[in-house]
Amino acid sequence: MPTIASHLAVAATASSPLLDGMTIIPHILILGGTGEARQLAQRLAATNRLRITLSLAGRTEQPLPQAGEVRRGGFGGTEGLADWLAANAVDMMVDATHPFARHISGNAEAAARATGVPLVRLERPPWLPVEGDRWIDAADVAQAAALLGTEPKTVFLAIGRQELAPFRTFARHRYIVRSVDPVAAEHRLPGARYILDRGPFAEGDERALLTAHNVEILVAKNSGGAATYAKIAAARALALPVVMVRRPHEKPADAATVDEAVAKILHWAGLPQERGE
Ligand code: NAP
Repeated sequence: MPTIASHLAVAATASSPLLDGMTIIPHILILGGTGEARQLAQRLAATNRLRITLSLAGRTEQPLPQAGEVRRGGFGGTEGLADWLAANAVDMMVDATHPFARHISGNAEAAARATGVPLVRLERPPWLPVEGDRWIDAADVAQAAALLGTEPKTVFLAIGRQELAPFRTFARHRYIVRSVDPVAAEHRLPGARYILDRGPFAEGDERALLTAHNVEILVAKNSGGAATYAKIAAARALALPVVMVRRPHEKPADAATVDEAVAKILHWAGLPQERGE
């Protein structure tokens, strides 16, 4: 697969292939669905020297406003994505999808290999436990459900709305489910309470929420980042255990932050680095 590193090597040994005296606007496809993808699109679009298309899966009913062009919906697997890259003359692809979005990241790698379009993976690092945390490690959501134990408990589920099925088997617990969009009828858990909300969340509010609902244990995905960390800090403050679902893969990313991704992409495109405030 052509990596950012191989392209940077090209950029280092020759003048930029993209801006060689001509006004060619490089086209960058950002695979999104995360706050980082949104911020990256905004920062790159603000240069006015790059054409940015942000791609969303189309699951969220009312996505936040985005910078640049936006397309929605699946591409139709690796082949569909590769076709889209060619048909839309994409010069670089950025995979800034969520760490738990497995399929699209695999498709992006395969489509980059097939087309020769360089790929940058932007992925925030996972959270690490700190003193006072009571984490229970789970390999996936199904194991997390099984780890809740035999005693009936009040469980706060902050894992989105698509993966609730494994908890149906453990009906002895009382579930509180928080999601951005309403849970579809076929995914609902009997007797559960539903909270609709979108991060970022504040620790004090999270503590109040967990206390008000008498939550005894949380289930979370190790998403990383600041926007949804408050529930983890709140659980620590209240000495509550958290069943923490591990990421489906631990591949090294090309950039861990939006700043790093912006710097790499501007360098690749032969554009000046942003000035600090
Ligand atoms: P997934 O399993 O990797 O994706 C399933 C399919 O949805 C993909 O094969 C692809 O369809 C389409 N898709 C996913 N992301 C896309 C994008 N950015 N643009 C166009 N098509 C996309 O992903 P998921 O876990 O269902 O997540 C869906 C979206 O929600 C992702 O964009 C992700 O960043 C975001 N998200 C996920 C989570 C999570 O916990 N999984 C949390 C927050 C946000 P085709 O094969 O037809 O191209």
